[in-house]
Amino acid sequence: MNKTIIVSNRLPLQISIDEDSLVVTPSVGGLATGMKSVHGDGKGVWVGWSGINEDELSPELSKKVESRILAENCVSVPLTTTDIKEYYEGFSNKTLWPLFHYFMEYSIFKEHEWEAYKRVNIKFAKVVLENLEDGDTVWVHDYQLLLLPQLIKDQRPNTNIGFFLHIPFPSFEIFRTFPRREEILRGMLGADLIGFHTYDYERHFLSSIKRIIRLDVNFNNISFYDRVIAVDSFPMGIDYDKFHNAALEHNNGNKEQAALPKQMEDEPIDDIKLILSIDRMDYTKGIPNRIKAFEYFLDSFPEYKGKVRLIMLAVPSRSNVSQYKKLKRRTDELVGRVNSKFATLSWTPISYLYRSVPFDDLIDLYTSSDVALITPLRDGMNLVAKEFVATRTNLDGVLILSEMAGAAQEMNEALLINPLNFEDFANNLNRALTMPLKEQHTRIEIMQKRLKRYNVEKWAKEFLTSLKGTEELNNTTTTKKLLGEYEENLVIDFHEKKKRLLLLDYDGTLVGFKDNPQDAEPDEELYSLLDSLQEKENTTVVLISGRDKATFQKWFEHKNYTLVTDHGVWLYQNNEWIELERLKTDWMQNLRPILETFVDRTPGTFIETKNYSLAWHYRTADPELATRRTIELNTVLTSMVSNNDLSILKGNKVIEIKSSNVNKGRAVSRLLLQEEYDFITVIGDDWTDEYMFEEVPDWAYTIKVGITKTKARFKIKDTGRVRQVLKRINDKND
Ligand code: UDP
Repeated sequence: MNKTIIVSNRLPLQISIDEDSLVVTPSVGGLATGMKSVHGDGKGVWVGWSGINEDELSPELSKKVESRILAENCVSVPLTTTDIKEYYEGFSNKTLWPLFHYFMEYSIFKEHEWEAYKRVNIKFAKVVLENLEDGDTVWVHDYQLLLLPQLIKDQRPNTNIGFFLHIPFPSFEIFRTFPRREEILRGMLGADLIGFHTYDYERHFLSSIKRIIRLDVNFNNISFYDRVIAVDSFPMGIDYDKFHNAALEHNNGNKEQAALPKQMEDEPIDDIKLILSIDRMDYTKGIPNRIKAFEYFLDSFPEYKGKVRLIMLAVPSRSNVSQYKKLKRRTDELVGRVNSKFATLSWTPISYLYRSVPFDDLIDLYTSSDVALITPLRDGMNLVAKEFVATRTNLDGVLILSEMAGAAQEMNEALLINPLNFEDFANNLNRALTMPLKEQHTRIEIMQKRLKRYNVEKWAKEFLTSLKGTEELNNTTTTKKLLGEYEENLVIDFHEKKKRLLLLDYDGTLVGFKDNPQDAEPDEELYSLLDSLQEKENTTVVLISGRDKATFQKWFEHKNYTLVTDHGVWLYQNNEWIELERLKTDWMQNLRPILETFVDRTPGTFIETKNYSLAWHYRTADPELATRRTIELNTVLTSMVSNNDLSILKGNKVIEIKSSNVNKGRAVSRLLLQEEYDFITVIGDDWTDEYMFEEVPDWAYTIKVGITKTKARFKIKDTGRVRQVLKRINDKND
C-alpha cells in the first residue's frame, strides 16, 4: 500500500537514556497531531533526527535506539555533533532563521555552515530514498530542509513531493541579499506543492521565483521545465478539542487546580486583571519591546496602576546562541527596571517566568487571564494566540495580536496592532480591559468556530489533498513525457527507417536562453553532435529558427545542415540561400518608435531589429512591470498590425512583430514536398514552433520543450534532455 513519508528536522519523540534504560516517549506537539491521519496506526513513516548525536552513542546502543524508534514508525537520520552545530545551530538558526524573520543584521553567512547544510540535506535524502517505494508521497517540513525536495526529485522524478514552510518567507528585497538564494529556491522547486501559512509569504516566494529564477508564474502555478508546481497557503491550526476540552475540565473543577507559579500567589489577585503573554525567548517575539510598551501604557493610563498585571512566560530557547543570551539579559534588565519604577508594597506590574510549564499549568494560565497580549515583531504563525482563544470556554477574554504574526491574517476579530506603535499598543490594551462582555463573546465565538473547523488535522488533510491534485495538474494534457518506452521507440524507429528528417528549433531547444541573444552561440558539443547526425546516411538535419540570416550565416553556413531563418523567409540548402517569401519591411520605420517608447519606460528591455521583424525583449526586466507593459504594447499594436498584414508573436520573454505571410510551418511544408520521409522528428519550445507541429503527419515525433500548452505529442524537460535524446539517436548504430 502506498504510504506518506513525513520528513522534519526532529522526529516527534523524546528519547532519554539513563544508564541502561532507554525511554522513548512520543511527543504530542501540534505537527504530530496533524500528522495522525497519515502517520498514526502505522500508515506512514516519519524521517528525522532523533535528538541524539550519532557520535555520542555506542554502536550497540545506537542499534537499540534505532529499533525503538522504528517501533514508533520513525526512521532516524544519523547526525553528528558537528552536523548539529553547523547545520542546525549554525546555518538553520543563525543564517536562515533571522533572515526569514527580517532580522537581516543578525544573519551571518558562513561558507562551512552552508556546506554542512547541504551535506545534512543529502543525508536526509539518503534516508528518505532508502524508505521510498513507487507511489509513495513525501511531505517535507520547514527551513532546515529547503534543499531536500530537489534532492529527492532528481532521483525519483515520479514521486509526489510536498513542502511546507513553517516560518515566514521574506519579501524579495530581503531574500535577494542571501548569498545562496538561487540554490535555496531551486531546492524548494523539487516539490510539486509548496505551502505557506499565509498568502503574503506565498506572494513573496513567487516574487523571488519570478525575479531570481525568472520562471513564468500563472496565478499560483509555476512552470518549471516539464512540470507545473503549485504554490498555496494553508494556515496551520491547532488541536482545538484538546485545548478546549482541557479548559472545560479545568473550569468545571474536575481537574485539580494547577498551581500557579509561586510568585503569583504571594499577592492577592482579586480585582487585578491579568494580561498574559507566552513565547519562546526569541528576538522575533518582541519581548523587550512589549515590556517597554507596557511601561508606556502604565504611564499613559496611570489609573491601571495596581489594577493590572502582565504575566510574562518566556520559554528558554537556543540559550547557547549569543543573540539569545543577550536577549535574556536585556529582558531581565527591563523587567527589573519597569517593576522597580512602578511596584508598590502590594503590587508588582510584571510577573516574569523564564521556564516552560506543564500542560495543565498552561491551561491554567490561559483560562485565568483576561487579556492575551501576543505581540511578536515577526512570527510565521503563532499558535499561542489560537490556543488562548480555544480555551475561552465562557467566550470571555480579549486577544491582542500583532499584525506581524501569520495568525493575524485569519484572526480579524482580535485587536490587531502594530506593536512598535506604543500609542496604538496602549490604546488597544485599554480597549481590551474595558471591552463589554457582549463584544468579547462575539469576537471569541467567531474565532473559535473557525479554529474548531480548520484544526491541525484539517490543515494536514487539505495540504495532502492539494498535493494529490498536483498529479492531475501535471497530467491534464494528452502530451506525454518523452521518457522510458517513448524515448526508446523514437531511437529504435530512427534506425529502422530509410529517409529521416530532423527539424530542430534553435533557441530554447538546442541552446538555453541568454540575457543577450547574440551570446547564445553554438558550442563545440552541439556542433559535433549535429555534424555526426548529418553525416548519417539518408538523414537531413534542419535548423529552423526565427533568427536572422546573418547570424545563422556566421554560425552555420560552413556546415552541411539545412537552415531556415527569419521564421521561414530564407532557406539554405546545398550551399545556396533561397528567399522563400518576398516581404515588405516599410512598416518597421513606423513601429520602431513605438517600441522605443516602451524600452524607455521599461528598464531591462531592448529592441532586436531583424531583416523582417522587430522583437522587443524583456527577459531582464522586472517581471510584473513587463507583464503590464506587454498588455499595453499588445493593445497599442493590435490596431496597427491588422492594416499591414503583420502579426504579433508572443515568444519566450519576447514580443515579435513580423509579417503574417510567413511562418515556420510554411517552410516545413515546402521541405516535405521535396522528399518522401518515413521518419520525422520536430523539436521546439516556442509558440512559433506550433506551426511546425501542425504541418507534419500525425505519426511524426513532435516534441515540445517545457510545459506550455502544445499540439505536440511529447514534452521534454529542457535543452539538456534534448541533447541527450539526440545523442542517443546518434550513438546507436543502424
Ligand atoms: N508551549 C510549550 N511550553 C510552554 C509554553 C508554551 O510547549 O511552557 C507551547 C505552546 O502551547 C505552543 C508552542 O509552545 O503550542 C509555541 O508555538 P508558537 O507557534 O506560538 O511559537 P513558536 O515557538 O513555534 O515560535
